[in-house]
Amino acid sequence: MRKRAAIIGAGVSGLTCGVVLAEHEWNVTILADETGEQTTSGAAAAVWFPYDAEPVDKVIPWSLITYERLRDLARDSQSGVSMVELRQFTRAGEIAIPDWAKNLGAYSISVVPSENASPARTEGSLTIPAFPTTFTSGYALTVPLIDATIYLDYLAKRLRTAGGRIQSAHISKVDEIPRDFDVIINCSGIGARDLVHDSDLEAHRGQVAIVPKIDLAQAIICNDAPLMYAIPRAHDCVFGGTNSISENREPSSADTTAIVSECSRVLGIDPPPVIAMKVGLRPFRKIRRAPRVGKIRRRPHHHSQLRPRRCRLHSLVGLRRRSEGDCLTRKPRTLIAL
Ligand SMILES: Cc1cc2nc3c(=O)[nH]c(=O)nc-3n(C[C@H](O)[C@H](O)[C@H](O)COP(=O)(O)OP(=O)(O)OC[C@H]3O[C@@H](n4cnc5c(N)ncnc54)[C@H](O)[C@@H]3O)c2cc1C
Repeated sequence: MRKRAAIIGAGVSGLTCGVVLAEHEWNVTILADETGEQTTSGAAAAVWFPYDAEPVDKVIPWSLITYERLRDLARDSQSGVSMVELRQFTRAGEIAIPDWAKNLGAYSISVVPSENASPARTEGSLTIPAFPTTFTSGYALTVPLIDATIYLDYLAKRLRTAGGRIQSAHISKVDEIPRDFDVIINCSGIGARDLVHDSDLEAHRGQVAIVPKIDLAQAIICNDAPLMYAIPRAHDCVFGGTNSISENREPSSADTTAIVSECSRVLGIDPPPVIAMKVGLRPFRKIRRAPRVGKIRRRPHHHSQLRPRRCRLHSLVGLRRRSEGDCLTRKPRTLIAL
């Protein structure tokens, strides 16, 4: 008989776990109160790049596994995953190329002041037409780019094809989930704070502006303040972004103006019209802790009485990079948090 898994959350984590389990003969039900573009996953830019995720010594190996999975997916034209050249810049001094990036073929690129450069963009360098001093150095590497508007639907379709299903439901307590599930996987993102009282999670609010497709061959990123990125997609371009500790999921027009203004300034273009504004809450864990699996004891109903043990399911996860969390089990069920 097929084992049954309940997954809380239909973001990239929940869908990825669902696909992996359903394609391994599990009977999978995803329970989620938001799906698709409503989720934080739907707001993501989304390029593969280790950013705002800890602990670094664990995140890098996890990310490299994800890199390989996404590179494989890029061969499927339906997936919404492609490979793109990413150009990472700094506004001050020489940028250090991390070892993991060197191993992926990263190379330094020079930043050429516009008055000294012709034509405007040259091989191995980026000219910044209007503001030549914006960046001081950078490096380039090829990474997976995930178009969330396609990828989430692609995962949902794969899940359904493998027999899985997605149900609209808000789960207030894990105990609400029927007992006949063998495993419960918590992929609720920032929702885990309420769902399992995971107070270590911090909401890192991010906002992006979607603008019409522009002629941009590379993804341009600068993580120095003000955070700036321009990510070309098949049908549009994502301008970012913000990263602040906040729970506010309402788009801010002041943020949008600042984002579009900085991206346009860097790219040397007139500010394009904004098609949409998107906000998501990145689930950031404040303390260093390994992902856990624990048992829910029969008597108590409080998750504070869980006894965790380590879990390695993080390697199944696709886009997301905060691949750690609490995991609970109530024999014979297991709750695994991602
Ligand atoms: C602006 C922005 C840009 C980003 N850019 C990138 C990027 O370029 N690359 C990258 O790798 N990452 C990026 N991220 C981060 C990335 O989006 C997140 O790490 C990732 O989407 C988290 O996915 P998730 O599936 O864990 O959570 P989510 O996408 O938040 O999904 C959580 C799911 O759980 C459900 N849920 C929660 N609580 C409950 C409940 N109690 N009952 C029922 N359902 C519940 C929600 O409805 C939802 O379906 C970005 C984030 C933002 C905000």
